[in-house]
Amino acid sequence: MPWKGPIQPGDFPSLGYLITDWVEAHCVVPDGFDLGSPFVYSDEQMTFIVNHYRLKTTIEFNPARPLLAPAFKHRRSQLVRAQKWGKNPLIASWACAEGVGPVLFAGWAEGGEVWDCRDHGCGCGWVYEYEPGEPMGMAWPTPLIQITAVSEDSTGNTWDALRPMIEKGPLAEVIPKVGEEFIRLPGQGRIDVVTSSARSRLGQRVTAVSQDETGLWTPETGMVKVAETQRRGLAGMGGRAVETTNAWDPAEGSVAQRTAESSVEDVHRDLREPPTHLSYGNRRERRKIHQFNYAGSPWVDIDAIEAEAAELMESDPAQAERFFGNRIMGAQDAAFDLDRWSSLALPNLVIADRELITVGVDGARFDDALAMIATDVVTGHQWPVGNPSGGVAIWTRPENAGDSYEHPADEADAAMAALFDRYEVWRAYIDPQWIDHLYDRWAGRWGDRIVAWTTHRPKPMAYALRAYRAAMTGGDLSHSGDPLFAKHIGHARRRKAVGVYDEDRRPMWTVSKASPGSPLKIDAAVAGCLSWEARGDAIAAGAKKKQRRAPRRIY
Ligand SMILES: [Zn+2]
Repeated sequence: MPWKGPIQPGDFPSLGYLITDWVEAHCVVPDGFDLGSPFVYSDEQMTFIVNHYRLKTTIEFNPARPLLAPAFKHRRSQLVRAQKWGKNPLIASWACAEGVGPVLFAGWAEGGEVWDCRDHGCGCGWVYEYEPGEPMGMAWPTPLIQITAVSEDSTGNTWDALRPMIEKGPLAEVIPKVGEEFIRLPGQGRIDVVTSSARSRLGQRVTAVSQDETGLWTPETGMVKVAETQRRGLAGMGGRAVETTNAWDPAEGSVAQRTAESSVEDVHRDLREPPTHLSYGNRRERRKIHQFNYAGSPWVDIDAIEAEAAELMESDPAQAERFFGNRIMGAQDAAFDLDRWSSLALPNLVIADRELITVGVDGARFDDALAMIATDVVTGHQWPVGNPSGGVAIWTRPENAGDSYEHPADEADAAMAALFDRYEVWRAYIDPQWIDHLYDRWAGRWGDRIVAWTTHRPKPMAYALRAYRAAMTGGDLSHSGDPLFAKHIGHARRRKAVGVYDEDRRPMWTVSKASPGSPLKIDAAVAGCLSWEARGDAIAAGAKKKQRRAPRRIY
């Protein structure tokens, strides 16, 4: 008999319903006033389990060669939730199920078959009767489970939930030894702890692995390799992994980030980010964010979360927004300080004709925006170069633009020509990636004053951005106060430049939009950075001949 089919549209077969019932019958609340009472999943926890154990619809059961991981739609799962949401007890219960519960596909029921605990060395009396067409479960013969985290503190959070969950309930009879370091399971199985400093069991042929707080698993900790080694071990055994984490710092290239951004489709990703219009810096809106994040965790006291978040906000607002706000791209990940940028505006400063300037150009041909930023070499004053006949300065694709929309190349061309007429342009640095039609045209006209500067090279870009940011911090730069330019500066988010380190071996960053599809453009920020880079090169080359003078305000 095959799968019974959907009752409602969107239904799919999963062992998760059976496992949820099994957990409720066997796992107990590991602490607090309800210690020892049945552990019942919240709706969000159950949804995660049902998705992790989602089955393919076309599979058949062969008792001689049962399908292990390939029976499931997802090879592994990632759960991203705020601090204290309940990830550790969920993982503890999952480890119990992987240890002695019905977590493998054992065929489609005819109806009337049962999981009877007496057949599995458990005297709790629990019996689950399958309906026709329902997937049946069976236990691993020799489960090898690893609870993995960067530090013992982190594995401790899961372990401290796991031990009483077993010892204070019916599983105490089934699971013979629960120790400080490992748990012995029936059939030579075990549950072990693996940390960055305790890796001796790494490389084993594991059947289930929990990877906890993978937002902290950065290349520097060595945990990226740990994750890869464990996945190889799982692949050899037909096992699967569950990854849990807080929102991660997108500048760090962690395992959590890699999983989330990877294009592979056989990973279940469960991320529930709060509405973007709510500001974490605003007390009232922060409370709404917490209410959203902990809606499925009735055991959480929102006031207590608010108090902890408020305290963390004082020392590390970015961390607070990630931990309790569950936001990956928080305002704190901004590449540039927008308040600082605003303070550098000199809207009335006009750079005189014939001054030596540099230009940076970045953008696309059809999407996003196209920006040209000029920099006065002497003063470091920046402004967006617009259509000489007025109006647009940074060309942006209109929201309702049709397929045929293209940034007006002739307008951009006229703007560049007007700039060369009016000023002495030392160099224009241009990322030709999407605008080679303009690059070619200009290189043909102005020769080696037009320089291709590819922003996709992580190392030069990271250094250019560092210099650009330092110029803002140090007040070496001023700008015209263009509102769209400021928006692009504010939209730029830090991203780890993989494999690029500064002189002190600290990781460096480049910039990106908040997400690939984000409508918040950053092209003018990148163009501004290129223009600034060209100015630095002009000075280094001795091109700045005139006396340095202070910017003057004109009222
Ligand atoms: Zn039982």
